[in-house]
Amino acid sequence: MLDIDKLSLNIPDTKKPRVVIIGGGFGGINLAQKLECKDFQVVLLDRQNYHGFWPLLYQVATAGLEPDSIAEPLRKMFSSDEFEDFHFRLVKVTGVNPATKTVSTIIGELHYDYLVIATGTKSNYFGNEQVKKNAFPLKQIPHALNLRSQLLQCFEQATMTADPVLRQSLLTFVIVGGGPTGVETAGALAEMRKHILPNDYPGVDFTKMKIYLIEGMDRVLPPMSPESSAKTLKYLQDLDVIVKLNTLVESYDGYVATIKGGEQINAQTLVWAAGVQGALIDGLPAESVERGRILVNPFNQVLGFDDIFAIGDIAFMKTEKWPKGHPGVAQPAIQQGQLLAKNLKRLITNQKLEPFEYFDKGSLAIIGRNRAVADLPKNIHLGGFFAWLTWLFVHIMYLVGFRNKLVVLSNWIYKFFTYENGTRLIIRPFVRKGDRVKRQFINKYETE
Ligand SMILES: Cc1cc2nc3c(=O)[nH]c(=O)nc-3n(C[C@H](O)[C@H](O)[C@H](O)COP(=O)(O)OP(=O)(O)OC[C@H]3O[C@@H](n4cnc5c(N)ncnc54)[C@H](O)[C@@H]3O)c2cc1C
Repeated sequence: MLDIDKLSLNIPDTKKPRVVIIGGGFGGINLAQKLECKDFQVVLLDRQNYHGFWPLLYQVATAGLEPDSIAEPLRKMFSSDEFEDFHFRLVKVTGVNPATKTVSTIIGELHYDYLVIATGTKSNYFGNEQVKKNAFPLKQIPHALNLRSQLLQCFEQATMTADPVLRQSLLTFVIVGGGPTGVETAGALAEMRKHILPNDYPGVDFTKMKIYLIEGMDRVLPPMSPESSAKTLKYLQDLDVIVKLNTLVESYDGYVATIKGGEQINAQTLVWAAGVQGALIDGLPAESVERGRILVNPFNQVLGFDDIFAIGDIAFMKTEKWPKGHPGVAQPAIQQGQLLAKNLKRLITNQKLEPFEYFDKGSLAIIGRNRAVADLPKNIHLGGFFAWLTWLFVHIMYLVGFRNKLVVLSNWIYKFFTYENGTRLIIRPFVRKGDRVKRQFINKYETE
């Protein structure tokens, strides 16, 4: 048995300033890659051993890509000689103690000279515990694998029932949240329904499969331009996605989604893509946190501290141009990580820090084959094939790891010509907590 008391962070002592980074996401890796190990000892702590490329997570959930093609092991990313004083530890950070300049983990504390919080976000259920318990979130690879299993299990079970009500609820998918994740998931499911599922499940009438996309605001993709929202709505409707705007889901018990106003939708699957909140860590004073994110100055220093920084989604930097903070997308995290590396070097050499200025490269969303939207700088809005090509190119470019780029690109090329998704495997069956019926069903087919 593993005796947890015998584990410790085990970081070598150093005479250099120690930078502790919590989170190996877009912000964390860009900072760590630019920090020079001759000037600093760099310690990266993450609760997972990989960097995840979340923009392609929905393709894992909809059986388009394998999970390992959208993730890169953190140790591999920092294995070359230039990172000789870089140390990764697979551990969840549970607290920050500014008074002692330490972070706490289940296996002990670690002293920092500079601390960088880059923990990103987690799903926000707005206090609705019932939805939290029963919905499928889409924030991490295990979430995508759960959803993939659930989708495939629903299709399998639909072939095995003559009960029309049960079959319809197995074939009804509710996606809550009309942002990029919701739109992209709905589009991918609609394409599966059109090109793949009728061949895989000849006994099932897929004209009956329903995909709802529910959005609380008056348009899909609210962070994008009205032009892109309008195009996206049309693309979704062309794919027979039922889009409900100005609509709020009030409850979901795992079987029935109730919409504010009383409408009920029988669905065994509800995907929650309706909101996120900062993945905060205990220990910072309440004044440093606003709307679930950490308040920072233009140098990403946490309010009240000059040795603690926050970057990426967790950071709340109010500026004249971005009074509600920067958008929760990869670019601000990447750019803040890169600038902070320079600023930490300036800090130890007593130079003036450079304030962060966000360079907005635009936003993209894909709805399906040849259907995408792009808001580019200078008010350029693309739709259709050119936006689709731009989306593919940008995602390959930013995906971390040469092998991943190769695997994803070859998957997409194969899919383009064959309409085939290669990964429709239930590797790890999904059972909702407390769902005895499904557990018994799965047990029957599991081997010892
Ligand atoms: C499904 C999905 C689709 C998206 N699509 C797009 C898109 O198309 N385009 C785009 O630009 N952006 C997209 N985003 C947003 C983008 O991924 C984020 O803005 C970006 O990841 C933010 O980077 P970050 O470094 O702040 O956080 P993250 O990349 O989320 O990284 C946070 C890291 O911190 C770690 N962590 C958290 N808490 C702890 C803890 N207590 N202890 C140790 N480690 C911890 C996590 O394991 C994770 O590795 C999407 C996000 C999701 C979830």
